[in-house]
Amino acid sequence: MQSISIKTRSRIEMVDVTDMIQSLIKESGISDGICVCYVPHTTAGITINEGADPSVCEDIMQKLSELVPHHYNYKHLEGNADSHIKATIVGSSVTVIVEDGKLALGTWQKIFFCEFDGPRTRKIWVKTIDMKKLE
Ligand code: ZN
Repeated sequence: MQSISIKTRSRIEMVDVTDMIQSLIKESGISDGICVCYVPHTTAGITINEGADPSVCEDIMQKLSELVPHHYNYKHLEGNADSHIKATIVGSSVTVIVEDGKLALGTWQKIFFCEFDGPRTRKIWVKTIDMKKLE
């Protein structure tokens, strides 16, 4: 398993981690396989969406905050109940096909780490499965 460390800068933020994950795949030397990116946190997540227009990420975060406001009558008393809920909506892993040593993403797709209780230092665990080793 490989690990990426990310320092987020705001309470809520989407960070494009596509190039970092692509670099790990290059390091691992895998050409055809599967890449699992897993976030081992309860108040952060990971997703794939449009990276060309930054307004898309802004809209996603704004709508999530409307649906799940920071302040509300939550039972969890740490003050970050909304962060846990947002993390569950977004999910904690993505799986991407690796083809010819590259992440097989659609033209406009990027992989985003989603911070919901920052700023903090966070991790993404990355595991690649090499299809050639399975043959
Ligand atoms: Zn909490």
